[in-house]
Amino acid sequence: MSASGSVSRPASLLVIFGATGDLAGRMLLPSLYGLHRDGLLATDFRCLGTARSDLDTGAFRDQVRQHLEKRVPVADRDTDSVARFLDRLEYQAADVADSQSATALTERIKALRTGDVLYHLSTAPRFYAPICAVLGAARLAGAGTRVMLEKPIGHDLASAVAINDGVTATFDESRVFRVDHYLGKEGVQNLLALRFGNALFEPLWNARHIEQVQITVAETIGVEGRGDYYDHSGASRDMLQNHLLQLVCLTAMEPPSQFDPSAVRNEKLKVLRSLRPIEVADIPNNSVAGQYTAGAVDGVAVPGYRDELGRASNTETYIALRAHVDNWRWSGVPFYLRTGKRMARRATEIYLQFRAVPHSIFANSGAAVEPNALIISLQPEERIELRLMHKTPGLDRNGLKLAQVALDLETSDAFKQARRRLAYERLYLDAIEGNGTLFVRRDETETAWQWIDGILDGWQKLGISPKSYPAGTFGPSSAVALTERHGHSWRE
Ligand code: NAP
Repeated sequence: MSASGSVSRPASLLVIFGATGDLAGRMLLPSLYGLHRDGLLATDFRCLGTARSDLDTGAFRDQVRQHLEKRVPVADRDTDSVARFLDRLEYQAADVADSQSATALTERIKALRTGDVLYHLSTAPRFYAPICAVLGAARLAGAGTRVMLEKPIGHDLASAVAINDGVTATFDESRVFRVDHYLGKEGVQNLLALRFGNALFEPLWNARHIEQVQITVAETIGVEGRGDYYDHSGASRDMLQNHLLQLVCLTAMEPPSQFDPSAVRNEKLKVLRSLRPIEVADIPNNSVAGQYTAGAVDGVAVPGYRDELGRASNTETYIALRAHVDNWRWSGVPFYLRTGKRMARRATEIYLQFRAVPHSIFANSGAAVEPNALIISLQPEERIELRLMHKTPGLDRNGLKLAQVALDLETSDAFKQARRRLAYERLYLDAIEGNGTLFVRRDETETAWQWIDGILDGWQKLGISPKSYPAGTFGPSSAVALTERHGHSWRE
């Protein structure tokens, strides 16, 4: 193992717990196929799927073939490479709550093991500690093994600590890879490239030059059959605690000394620790909870959250916050964060608005000078837009006319030949090779929970219920006031 905490030998066996689940079928196995097709898996690499379903390897391979046919574009697969990929797959039925079937599983792992092993726990998180204990008892969790965990790691700080304690009782922290799939997205990694691969932005990337930051993760979908899970979670736990706060970290962090697991995660942790707690007294002015009612998204009528769920509920499907990163770099700069379901459009973006020019020489001619802005869009497409003031062409007698235009870098245009990869391709490749840079460390997860718990406790103490907003809008009207009372407005 290197000093940075990365494990050097690539795993030759991947064991997916929950291999018959939704995530495995939609994302994990198609991503693994992507790595196989591009020659990124060693010739002796094998994947063992496990779940309770009573399948043999042949039936599992058939299931995976169907997933690939549905999920991987025709242009990105061919019969030969699919057949060779399926040959790498094995299946062992096991109920992780039943010791007898667990023994059959551990025997199978021993039989297949030729080198390092990566375990991917894609089951309900309550199984994480028991699975690790089974692996530990079977002596399958020592040197040369590592474990990848799906979110959510708990639903609050106490439950996260319990899961982390359970897992790290078997695997030391350097061998635990917590997934936040946003970190596997090209656009998110490109944010690091933009900030730390260019000298242009760093001198401006601070409170002297930036007026406000907005981070939006807007979904147009509702709860899509995941109502029972979602109703216990809500937007704060499902999106804010992980994806949104990770984006805050990457936007706000200091330059790490190198792109390695310790350096990057140390800097992210400092950001999380600098987040100003939103105290009970600040809750009404700095947070908004919302829940969608019936409306229309893209012209299609959709039911409200309670109708989709089939019962009354006080769970927030939207949250907006005015947050602060209390350090020298960001002192006084508001970070407006929002995420919600059934929003007007699907968008994940980071918007940095620069401060206005100190004096406008164009004021006499009535030309407005708008502040510059940098927009880093991650979804639906990856693009970077720098908004600049530009002269409107023409022969004006009363001074210049100005308009704001965008310097637009759409990454899909710049790199047309590159296949758009699934986030799990990057994550699998890194976890197989033992590089934890794009995974979340225990202290990050727990610090994020501590901050979120403060907000949720505050809501509870004040008896705050979500305000309703019609599906197909950008949230309740009180979210508008959250920014406007400070002279800012949401980018819509
Ligand atoms: P899922 O569709 O409910 O799948 C759960 C998997 O666990 C199935 O393969 C199930 O198979 C297996 N399982 C259940 N009980 C078991 C037991 N006692 N012993 C062994 N296997 C058992 O869930 P999912 O949506 O794939 O999610 C998996 C994990 O990923 C969860 O932690 C979830 O929070 C996380 N995640 C999912 C998504 C997503 O989009 N789906 C997104 C982010 C994170 P059998 O029924 O055959 O046992």
